[in-house]
Amino acid sequence: MERYRVLTKWALLSYVAFRETLMIDFRSDTVIEPTKEMRRAMAEAPVGDDFYADDPSTRALEEFAAECLGKQSALFTPTGVIANALGLLGHGLRPDGPRAVLMDEQAHVNLREMSPLSSIAFIEPTFTGAPLGPDAEAVEAWLRSLSSPEEAVIVLENTNTNRCGKVVPLDRMLDVYEVASRFGARVHLDGTRLFNAAVVQNTGLADLAAAADTVVINLCKGLGAPVGAILAGPDTLIAQARELRKTLGGTMRRSGHMAAAGLVALKGGWEHMRDDHRRARDLASGLATEIDSIRLDTESIESNIVMFDPTPLGVDAEAFAASARKAGIIMSWQAPDAARLVVHRDISDDDITAAVSILSDVASGIARGNNSGN
Ligand SMILES: *Cc1c(COP(=O)(O)O)cnc(C)c1O
Repeated sequence: MERYRVLTKWALLSYVAFRETLMIDFRSDTVIEPTKEMRRAMAEAPVGDDFYADDPSTRALEEFAAECLGKQSALFTPTGVIANALGLLGHGLRPDGPRAVLMDEQAHVNLREMSPLSSIAFIEPTFTGAPLGPDAEAVEAWLRSLSSPEEAVIVLENTNTNRCGKVVPLDRMLDVYEVASRFGARVHLDGTRLFNAAVVQNTGLADLAAAADTVVINLCKGLGAPVGAILAGPDTLIAQARELRKTLGGTMRRSGHMAAAGLVALKGGWEHMRDDHRRARDLASGLATEIDSIRLDTESIESNIVMFDPTPLGVDAEAFAASARKAGIIMSWQAPDAARLVVHRDISDDDITAAVSILSDVASGIARGNNSGN
């Protein structure tokens, strides 16, 4: 075992030395480099002015995305945040009207997007605590408690970013949608990482999107396009969202240069995310085996996000990440007891092997520091 360690150390040192940046970036799947094909498509994209809705490359992306998602129409937006806002606003939430929204308290829409949304849309959210978001039973009980359930919106997220990338099963989503539809309520799906959810469940994107009236997908996370997201849904809602996007300053003139890369990303498919998921499991089991004093539930790794609690080592996640960075691993944290590593297209099997070894050294270093009374 010791000899193996010495050997891997050598291999590792040369490996890290040969990496261009000397850093392995696990912060998020937003750090992926656009491919050569994307860069070429961006340079050569035919463009118009999307303010007048006549940018051919943006049109092509929107049409292809609507088809992938099985929705009537789609809209290209600069970010996922604005796509979610346009979706929720499109469901009629307004200061003098419907405001009831049900969602997981850990939903990105709540944790990261609520303050702009509350000031624009005056949303009054109700939160569920279940790790997979609202289920049919919770939705039914909530809708029954409302005086105008037909004006309510339920937000689903799949995969669930802040819950270690948990995958919501299609059946559970369909059950929610069935209850919501019975009451005339709407379902909005934050499918930023819907691709990951699709490969885990061996379903199509459209199968998952069928459990919602409106859906958002992100082109610049696992798919690796430089920027942009898509909001898809019914014709009338998307036409309205197109106008609202102007009001909010989210209409980009020659957006075709960006849309062209998005189209390459979407057409390239998302089967490669299966490898990301396998590598995430390898990373998790490697860390759990090599480092005794962290809490990591390998069973909880369902997609490309790995989280662990480093506090038994005597440091919080931020301090652990700071030590990791000095050793060449860039990672993030969600809470003091939740360090986070996200696996993406630019992370190879060798990167995983290197990361396990480097992070276990980091942990030993921390443990030694603590033992020597520092
Ligand atoms: C990243 C993320 C968003 C926001 O997307 P941006 O393009 O960064 O604005 C929304 N929802 C979820 C679940 C996310 O992970």
